[in-house]
Amino acid sequence: MSQTIHETVILGSGCAGLTAAIYAARSNLKPVVLEGHEPGGQLSITTLVENFPGWPEGIQGPELIENMRKQAARFGAEFRLGHLVKVDLSKHPFVLDLGRETLLTRTLIIASGASARWLGLPSEQALIGHGVSSCATCDGFFFGGKEIAVVGGGDSAMEEALFLTRFASKVTLLHRREHFRASRIMLDRAIAHPKIQFQTNVLIEEVLGVEEKEVRGVRLRDRITGAESVLPISGLFLGIGHEPNAKMFEGQIDLDEDGYIRTHEQVLTRVPGVYACGDVQDRRYRQAITAAGSGCMAALEVEKYLEEHGR
Ligand code: NAP
Repeated sequence: MSQTIHETVILGSGCAGLTAAIYAARSNLKPVVLEGHEPGGQLSITTLVENFPGWPEGIQGPELIENMRKQAARFGAEFRLGHLVKVDLSKHPFVLDLGRETLLTRTLIIASGASARWLGLPSEQALIGHGVSSCATCDGFFFGGKEIAVVGGGDSAMEEALFLTRFASKVTLLHRREHFRASRIMLDRAIAHPKIQFQTNVLIEEVLGVEEKEVRGVRLRDRITGAESVLPISGLFLGIGHEPNAKMFEGQIDLDEDGYIRTHEQVLTRVPGVYACGDVQDRRYRQAITAAGSGCMAALEVEKYLEEHGR
């Protein structure tokens, strides 16, 4: 029996992938959506989204993503849990190896997003799940009445710190520089919050508590004076950005120096029939609405490609 050749497979089920799925499904392309290791992407682990147009009071990230998923399913998108192990884009149809099965597809939309970045300290890695976390919405609940810290100087760090004030008695925001990347509104909210304190120009040298198997504190070094200090905390949350999930495409499509997929004409890769959208190719805007917009573009390009190559 010959194997099904799909019209399109969408890799990733965040905002970009689901928007691509809505458009592709509505064009009757019966897209297969591979949900990946973080179904729903970053919106599924965020809280209130206040800047997605159409929601004047804001909407919770998980609800927004669930709505998109239902919308795509309503038009016939098929969702599968699966991770891409290997991919071959040199052949037509493209071959996607998922380990337990292989999918063949005429076009591919890469919307695999970006994953949380870690500091890379051995003590940090040893304590993941024992007080070290990259997801405030997932783990904040465990730190009721405790003193914790958030690392980073961007919007993610501010958002995490503000969210964690619901549980923690004190949140210290640790940033390696004096200046912040965070938007003024987020920074001002964090500065104004009575439970949040800032320590700038500090580097985390070690997370303390490896032997006890629970975070007891962090050893800090002042980047300017070199002075060392210890901040006693029960939890450390990482808010230092994300890494693009594109390693498996190395050598087959172009990646930039930080591993983001290089696109031209917004979503085209150098392989005809392969498109990339959302955070895996966008290091500049990285917003839910821009990811959704590029997901729409990728699906429209798939339609155009299939029209040109015979549906
Ligand atoms: P980001 O803007 O890239 O900020 C990352 C922060 O982490 C920077 O302050 C950076 O320090 C710091 N950092 C990176 N690596 C580090 C390391 N090894 N050690 C210590 N610190 C490190 O990332 P983001 O905050 O995740 O935001 C990404 C995008 O999403 C932005 O466009 C942002 O506006 C958006 N976003 C928006 C919202 C919202 O509006 N509600 C919420 C979250 C994210 P340096 O500054 O020194 O480089």
